[in-house]
Amino acid sequence: MPYTSDDCLFCKIVAGAIPADVVHRDDHVVAFRDINPQAPTHILVIPTTHYENAAEVAADDPSGLAALVLTARTLAQAEGIDRSGYRLVTNTGADAGQTVFHAHLHLLGARHLTWPPG
Ligand code: AMP
Ligand code: ZN
Repeated sequence: MPYTSDDCLFCKIVAGAIPADVVHRDDHVVAFRDINPQAPTHILVIPTTHYENAAEVAADDPSGLAALVLTARTLAQAEGIDRSGYRLVTNTGADAGQTVFHAHLHLLGARHLTWPPG
C-alpha cells in the first residue's frame, strides 16, 4: 500500500518541509534539481505519493508512472536537451545504488553520457 512516510526525505520535499530547487509541481508529480548533480541537467522526478520504487508505481498506478516519464520529457524540452538526448535512470535496490526509497526518475543530460554506466 502506498503511504506517506514521516521519515522519507522525498515525502518531506513533497510536503515543503525540506527546501528543494523545485522545477515542476502538480497534484501527482514533483520535480527538483539533484543536490549532487552528475550532469549539467540532473533533475529528480517523483510521485507525490510514496512508493518504494518505480515498479511499485507501475503495479499500483500505471498512469502515474507514465506521468513521471511525460513530465521528464517536458522538463527535457524546457532544459533544451530533448533533441541532444537525455537519460532516465531509476535505481532499484542496493546493487543499483538506490539511497532514497521513494520512487524517482533521474533525468540526466546536457553532456555526453557514456555507456555502460558505472
Ligand atoms: P538514488 O541513489 O537513485 O536513490 O538517488 C537519490 C538521489 O537523491 C541522489 O542522486 C542524491 O544526490 C539525491 N538527493 C539526496 N538528498 C537530496 C536533497 N535534499 N535534495 C535533492 N536531491 C537529493
Ligand atoms: Zn516518500
